[in-house]
Amino acid sequence: MSAEILSGREQAAAIRADVTERAARLAEEGRPARLAVVTATDDEASAWYVRSIVNAAGKVGIACDVADLGPQASPEAIRGRLESLSADERVSGIILQTPLPGGAKAEDLASGIAPAKDVDGANPLSLGRLAAGLAAFAPATAEAVVRILEHHGVEVAGRHAVVVGRSTVVGKPAAHLLLDRNATVTVCHSRTADLAAVTSMGDILVAAVGRAGLITPAHVRPGAVVVDAGTNQAADGGLVGDVEPGVAAVASALTPVPGGVGPVTTALLLLHTVQAAGG
Ligand code: NAP
Repeated sequence: MSAEILSGREQAAAIRADVTERAARLAEEGRPARLAVVTATDDEASAWYVRSIVNAAGKVGIACDVADLGPQASPEAIRGRLESLSADERVSGIILQTPLPGGAKAEDLASGIAPAKDVDGANPLSLGRLAAGLAAFAPATAEAVVRILEHHGVEVAGRHAVVVGRSTVVGKPAAHLLLDRNATVTVCHSRTADLAAVTSMGDILVAAVGRAGLITPAHVRPGAVVVDAGTNQAADGGLVGDVEPGVAAVASALTPVPGGVGPVTTALLLLHTVQAAGG
């Protein structure tokens, strides 16, 4: 068997085209969408990601401001900036970039983001509302996982979805979104005993760990659909997911890295921003 490749690129382009129209309409109406990214790190990968968001926002007509508070910023300063951006009527969406200085917890500080502007679902209130089945912005990566499945016509209801990873950014919200779509969901983590025994029960397997090659063919049920949300730097400097290439011989379908969850994630951040602006 050779897995069907579930690309995210075409879907991301369609979302961006929709966002471009909505952003133009908002601008015409005199209430343009505006995204603010708060960062407090000199991490290179983070800087690259922020540049890619600014670039992607510009292409769809969304202004994007970066508030770079530097790696010495105090938790109070970061929280204060999130609160002032939340109160700023010109700003529609706010993203708090990680890592944060001195081990500050993103979940703590992100409670300074107004839920209505929390376009990456970082405020614990957003996750709580998601868990309660109430309207909220989901973290874009978690939403990308389910949107990719929907886009490619993968049936979720009634199937067993196994999610590896339980962060508040990807694993937990992805599990809630799958549960909302009537999957039977199992969540694995670093303390799961015999990971392969659990993951190989999944009709759908979502990898959201951040360890290249963690998911091998032995972790995958033959014919399963595998969504790889992992992004890891390869030895050659390229980007690889959590899933070994050999999994393509076992799975019926597999999202690529790069070109799978990543582009849909960025497109959804922009979609959430125009939605937050009322577009
Ligand atoms: P994280 O906060 O580090 O969480 C990783 C999760 O994986 C934790 O729940 C951890 O378990 C679990 N884990 C670690 N080692 C494991 C093992 N050997 N077996 C089973 N589970 C294990 O990472 P994250 O922020 O959720 O990100 C996960 C991945 O998604 C990363 O590669 C990240 O770069 C990627 N990501 C991609 C995008 C995108 O746009 N495509 C966006 C965000 C994140 P414990 O809870 O027990 O520690």
